[in-house]
Amino acid sequence: LADKLGNAFKKLKNKGKLSEKDVKEAMREVRLALLEADVNYKVAKDFTNKVTERAVGQDVMQSLTPAQMVVKIVDEELTSLMGGEDARIEFASKPPTVIMMCGLQGSGKTTHTAKLAKMLKKQGRSPLLAACDVYRPAAIDQLKVVGEKAGVPVFEMGKANPVKIAKEAIKRAKDYGNDVVILDTAGRLHIDEALMDELKNIKKEVEPNEILLVIDSMTGQDAVNVAKSFNELLDITGVILTKLDGDTRGGAALSVKAVTGRPIKFAGTGEKLDDIEVFHPDRMASRILGMGDVLTLIEDAQNKMDAEKAEEMAQKMMSNKFDFNDLYDQFEQVKKMGPLKGILSKIPGVGKQLEGVDIDDRQIDWVQAIILSMTPEERSHPHIMNPSRKRRIAAGSGRSIEEVNRLIKQIDQMQKMMRQMTKGGKGSKKRRKMK
Ligand code: GDP
Ligand code: MG
Repeated sequence: LADKLGNAFKKLKNKGKLSEKDVKEAMREVRLALLEADVNYKVAKDFTNKVTERAVGQDVMQSLTPAQMVVKIVDEELTSLMGGEDARIEFASKPPTVIMMCGLQGSGKTTHTAKLAKMLKKQGRSPLLAACDVYRPAAIDQLKVVGEKAGVPVFEMGKANPVKIAKEAIKRAKDYGNDVVILDTAGRLHIDEALMDELKNIKKEVEPNEILLVIDSMTGQDAVNVAKSFNELLDITGVILTKLDGDTRGGAALSVKAVTGRPIKFAGTGEKLDDIEVFHPDRMASRILGMGDVLTLIEDAQNKMDAEKAEEMAQKMMSNKFDFNDLYDQFEQVKKMGPLKGILSKIPGVGKQLEGVDIDDRQIDWVQAIILSMTPEERSHPHIMNPSRKRRIAAGSGRSIEEVNRLIKQIDQMQKMMRQMTKGGKGSKKRRKMK
């Protein structure tokens, strides 16, 4: 979608003024791009009409070219199409807050029950998960497994009535001080009456604070239709859009809010429990426009980097003790963020250039292999390296002498840089501490 939109704007590039004809032509292409991305027809049409209305006759801001002006309007309208503001969980004034997850089979309910719990736990909450999908024994086990991974308790009563399980879970949460209860309900392959009756029943009996519909973004238009039906029957409070990591078109993300009137609150971006993000309409709009998503990247890094480790590392850098052991740890942190290509592609301007480029994640392994072939003494005192040590390390790690030399030079340079940075005295150290 980003490419197609880019093409639509390219033609505007050198125009001095936004004429109606130019804008309309660009919007025709934008509309086609949206339809191809599986955006709902009416949504696409309303969207381009709105942009045209705003863009035609608009004074181009001084600092922008006409094409940039249109991109800016498209960006703003995409953002507002997806809800504008970030949506949050509405917590109950009197705990526990009850969150009911619902959706079709395979959409990611169970996975996201655990992801959400882990996220809330990080924010200082104490969630309890309730196994209300009682039709397959495997479903309860699955919830137990992911619950354990997330470090949150799971309440189950086997094949009992889901309403009863939900009620018991809430009672249990009150007794044990859990301030959030997340209900993992059953799904079906298609919407059917029995399922809807069951969900309506749970809703009526436990009055959840949030009813979050989990939909699979890869199913595009279908996901939006499902959202529409669920909302009509259950009056949902928000959507979790899953599998965004596999969705290259972005159609569901763009249509859900417009079609249901309900905001996307969270996005699932992978199979691991940390792969969940608060959904930011403005960032998603920028991502769709191909501008990269730096803020999400930074959040990813903050989430996955062990904060304590980072602090310790900073102290070491400041006190000049940064050695090969630390470098090794840093690479471990980087690896936690996922494949390098994924990390780099979120940097604006880089994403496009990476198309077709193969980034070899093994490079990190190779450097780590070199470090592992060093003795502990060598690792913490890089300056003792001599030719015979280098030869031994190269042979041991299966890498070339040149690579070993390069790495030693790098750490030497880093240490020099640190020395220069800390020369300024205590001031810099203090600033860091205050953060
Ligand atoms: P449920 O039937 O709705 O409870 O769905 P599950 O939670 O069991 O998920 C179905 C499958 O989708 C599992 O294999 C999950 O690992 C996978 N899955 C869920 N969310 C995501 C996601 O955000 N990205 C990817 N790539 N896979 C996901
Ligand atoms: Mg499930």
